[in-house]
Amino acid sequence: RAKEQGRNNCQLYTPEMNSKAFERLSLENNLRKGLEREELVLYYQPKVNVEDGQISCMEALVRWQHPTMGLVPPARFIPLAEETGLIVPLGEWVLRTACRQNREWQKAGYPPMQVAVNISPRQLQQGNLVDVVERALSDSGLAPRWLVLEVTESIMMDGTESTLATFRVLERMGIHIAIDDFGTGYSSLHYLKKFPIHALKIDRSFIRDITTNPDDEAITSAVITMAKGLNLKVVAEGVETVEQLEVLRALQCTHMQGHLFSRPAPAEQFAPVFGRAAGAYLGFGTWC
Ligand code: C2E
Ligand code: MG
Ligand code: MG
Ligand code: MG
Repeated sequence: RAKEQGRNNCQLYTPEMNSKAFERLSLENNLRKGLEREELVLYYQPKVNVEDGQISCMEALVRWQHPTMGLVPPARFIPLAEETGLIVPLGEWVLRTACRQNREWQKAGYPPMQVAVNISPRQLQQGNLVDVVERALSDSGLAPRWLVLEVTESIMMDGTESTLATFRVLERMGIHIAIDDFGTGYSSLHYLKKFPIHALKIDRSFIRDITTNPDDEAITSAVITMAKGLNLKVVAEGVETVEQLEVLRALQCTHMQGHLFSRPAPAEQFAPVFGRAAGAYLGFGTWC
């Protein structure tokens, strides 16, 4: 009977599913080892203040430099890291590395910029984010005002009270909090009032067709106006063309990020552009 059932159960799994599960498991083991072997690398992407053409912030975006798979993008391993809890040590490594890098840039004498780190819900649920952040700052010597934590709207939905308490401590420390991918989650405007937020990043999906889709332009315009009224910085994500930049500029958007300015790249590639205004299209001369 048991044998029969076992065989029946087995039939529920197609060879394809087995290989998927296997792939997942081996990816998980690999990622665990990759973290230990320091195969993770941080790329950085500038957020540009379009009023003066300067970089106001560098966002750290993790990649996995795998010995055989090559450079693995975060979409391929962050969801798995979140499911398995590996995101906790991984996220701490990102935070520490980004703080240290920013401190290095400051020590080298470049104009000071903020560094932004993406934070997963799991890292907040862990309950020790404040300690982890404090340690990353004190070990690197970076002042809190140069650190931005990017969180998604969903973070404010789960564990509201403890999240709020954590955000308040971080805010008192002088750390900035930005809402990433704004407009794609369950944005309750209530949270904007309740949480100590410093910036909104308008999701790329609203920017992509902004030059041709009046709805996207209207939504973006409303978010910018609201952000200004709430005294929040606003950053448009995924700006790829001069036409998009012009529409956003007309809407008084002051900060932008996207391939038009720079793709994410390793830290050392940015040294030559620090302190130089971005792009001819901003009227500040050329960048690179
Ligand atoms: P995100 O934080 O919203 O980052 C923006 C993503 O859009 C990045 O993808 C970036 O390379 C891409 N991007 C930037 N400008 C443009 C553009 O003009 N056009 C287009 N098509 N794409 C653009 P990436 O680096 O693949 O990261 C994807 C996501 O992975 C991030 O979205 C973030 O949610 C997550 N992620 C990356 N690094 C970390 C990390 O250290 N921790 C956590 N928890 N998540 C991370
Ligand atoms: Mg982000
Ligand atoms: Mg984003
Ligand atoms: Mg995103």
